[in-house]
Amino acid sequence: MKRIAVEEAFITPEILAAMKRKLESGSAELGFRLLAESILFGTSPGAQLMQQRLLDIGEGRIAQMDATGTDVQIISLTSPGIQVLDAAEATALAAHSNDVLAQATQRFPGRFYGLTAVAPQEPERAADEIERGASKLGMRGVIINSHTFGQYLDEEQFTPLLAAAQALNQPIYLHPRDPSPQMIQPMAAYGLFSAIWGFAIETGLHAMRLIFSGTFDKFPNLKFLLGHMGEALPFWLQRIDNRYLVMSKAGALKPLKRLPSEYFKDNFLITTSGVTSMPALELSMKVLGAERILYAADYPYESVEEAVAFVDSIPDVEARAAIGYRNAERLFRL
Ligand code: CA
Repeated sequence: MKRIAVEEAFITPEILAAMKRKLESGSAELGFRLLAESILFGTSPGAQLMQQRLLDIGEGRIAQMDATGTDVQIISLTSPGIQVLDAAEATALAAHSNDVLAQATQRFPGRFYGLTAVAPQEPERAADEIERGASKLGMRGVIINSHTFGQYLDEEQFTPLLAAAQALNQPIYLHPRDPSPQMIQPMAAYGLFSAIWGFAIETGLHAMRLIFSGTFDKFPNLKFLLGHMGEALPFWLQRIDNRYLVMSKAGALKPLKRLPSEYFKDNFLITTSGVTSMPALELSMKVLGAERILYAADYPYESVEEAVAFVDSIPDVEARAAIGYRNAERLFRL
């Protein structure tokens, strides 16, 4: 079976160097510091190999894909990307990384596609970059690594960014990162800020803010992708609807035009990145339908072999093909 993996990460040496400077300046956010120590700039052999794989969007990555049976990767700038840097530098490095990624997609046509990295720190420039990515670089969507200095995309200043994504039909991959400064303190203990738990809480909260702010009444055609089996939100949707109805009737929250779950089903798709639990997938398929679920391996952070074995084990042939590649072909117009 064909396999299209849609949450696959890379980084440029320039962004790594800028991150290092930010860390050394002493002005980096707590979450970024913790993340950098444990993962991005880790000194273990595993961390070193991962950094080397993130930097490779050439022959080495293609060889890995061939070895694991991955036909296509949708590649995006790794988390937290340029969102931890100062605004002007972030905007410039986002554009540079997009040029580098676009060159790789031209070198390996049909194997690599890219998502446009943007710096939400400068929303108007981010909107321009989404336009440049879509019209000049052949990008298939946008990557945003959750909050930017504690700010979320439902906030007023990000309207130009969301308007550009909708107008250009570019889905936004809302990828996790370390929780916002407002949220991370109690999660810093025991390593809970990371992919083990905090990433999902941070990104799930971001998606919930987008729904409950009424963002999709303003941008009904905007599409977001959530990794990690929808950051657990499919599990919660029934309770969210139930409490929404009670609370909105009591005047405890602002009424929406539609049920929260209806926005979720219309404006979000989810991916399997990092999750190989069949019960979790079965629940998501029952709640959302297989047509809203895409395969992702989360290279180079997770085992591609395990992800491949997982998608191949989906019992229903039609659902396997939809999740394995057809939904990605449709969404990203491959
Ligand atoms: Ca990832």
